Amino acid sequence: MNKLLDKCNLCPRGCKVNRNKGELGFCRAGNKIKIARYSLHMWEEPCISGKKGSGTIFFSNCNLKCIYCQNYYISTLNNGNEYTTNEFADICLELQNRGANNINLVTPTLYIPLIIDGIKKAKKNGLTIPIIYNTSSYENVETIKLLKGIIDVYLPDLKYIDNDISKKYSGIDNYFEIATKAIQEMYNQQPKCVFDKNGIIKKGVIVRHLLLPNMENDSKKILKYLYDKYKDNIYISIMNQYTPIRKLKYKELNKKIDEKIYDDVIDYAWNIGIRNAFTQEDGTQSESFIPNFKND
Ligand code: SF4
Repeated sequence: MNKLLDKCNLCPRGCKVNRNKGELGFCRAGNKIKIARYSLHMWEEPCISGKKGSGTIFFSNCNLKCIYCQNYYISTLNNGNEYTTNEFADICLELQNRGANNINLVTPTLYIPLIIDGIKKAKKNGLTIPIIYNTSSYENVETIKLLKGIIDVYLPDLKYIDNDISKKYSGIDNYFEIATKAIQEMYNQQPKCVFDKNGIIKKGVIVRHLLLPNMENDSKKILKYLYDKYKDNIYISIMNQYTPIRKLKYKELNKKIDEKIYDDVIDYAWNIGIRNAFTQEDGTQSESFIPNFKND
């Protein structure tokens, strides 16, 4: 049993529930690692997936629960199986043995102390590939500090700059302040992007921004913020793959991103000087790019 789960304060929700005694906080995570799916994933940025794939582990539940969530079946519907830290270590080693370029922890925040324990065990047993921390950025700085020396590559989202929008779509009114502080701590730990001879990232920070319908001005402000603050020391991944997976009460969210608007945002990024960026080609806006959690 991990002591940090006795009064859970791992994320900004600050529920202070005793997860070791079965109490559930906002995220509904218990005191075991819960995983919806793990596999070699080919649809991340090229420097993460490469030719062999990213060893992606999708954790169940979420501390944010955005209304338009692309992984709704695991973030909200609690699908998945529970694993001990030893079993989690074995999963990491299995993915490495299958040829994964890295271990890619998707929405890991709720399980951080257990993941740290599992990664340490896996490293003792031969895990050598980089560990990627793939997060919404709704994180406590103190919790991110626990990951120093464990995480090689941070892959945080920066979703919104306008807190009215974060309130409307994610139910929190201070996302930007919280997320940017967390990203700064990630950058403090990994201030330089390092790639191997095949172009696979070994260390660094890649900030992802997913365009949402009617939000191109917010997107441009986010890109400007990131470039003004970090210049070319980080990479920025500008994503157009937003896909409405169920009918939502906000009509504007029930459509995909217009190709011309995406191109305009990319032009803007180029014009303000951003060069270290990943973009997506047409055709990535397909539901097939969202892993199938319904049947696993
Ligand atoms: S990790 Fe879950 S239980 Fe803990 S503070 Fe965050 S939402 Fe609450």
